[in-house]
Amino acid sequence: MDFTFCSHCGNTLEPSQDQEWDFECSKCNQRYYINPTPVVAALVFLDDKLVIVSSKNKDLWGLPGGYVSIGESLEEAIIREVLEETNLQIRIIDFLASYPMMKNERNLVFVVFIAEVDDGEPRAGDDVDELLVLTPKDAYEQLTGKFAKKALEYWMSLATDL
Ligand SMILES: [Zn+2]
Repeated sequence: MDFTFCSHCGNTLEPSQDQEWDFECSKCNQRYYINPTPVVAALVFLDDKLVIVSSKNKDLWGLPGGYVSIGESLEEAIIREVLEETNLQIRIIDFLASYPMMKNERNLVFVVFIAEVDDGEPRAGDDVDELLVLTPKDAYEQLTGKFAKKALEYWMSLATDL
């Protein structure tokens, strides 16, 4: 993300020396804040197995999820994304963890929920290439997304009955 010009007056922006905001316009004093964008994901359990997806045109295996739309809660976003990507209606069981991350030079915060399938048959949606239903251990081996792996590793460290 690159704030080069003030969107109020067009003046060139300089990074702020103040820790509370990121850029300040020296001409009109408008302050700019750079905050991370949330990305939601879920460990989606279908019985005792996990549903994982691969992205289109990439050999990247991750957890179902995506960006939050304006006006949506994180919970609504993950329910919508999972339905779009996997054809599964989920029920959120718990919040698992969140991880700050960078993707394409954007600051994100990856928010991971634990969910169970309420309804539907698993089927790869338009946004995904393939879908797999695997045991947590096999899913861990298959996942390539760094934070998806981290989240599952964390969940496995909490689970006592694997
Ligand atoms: Zn300005």
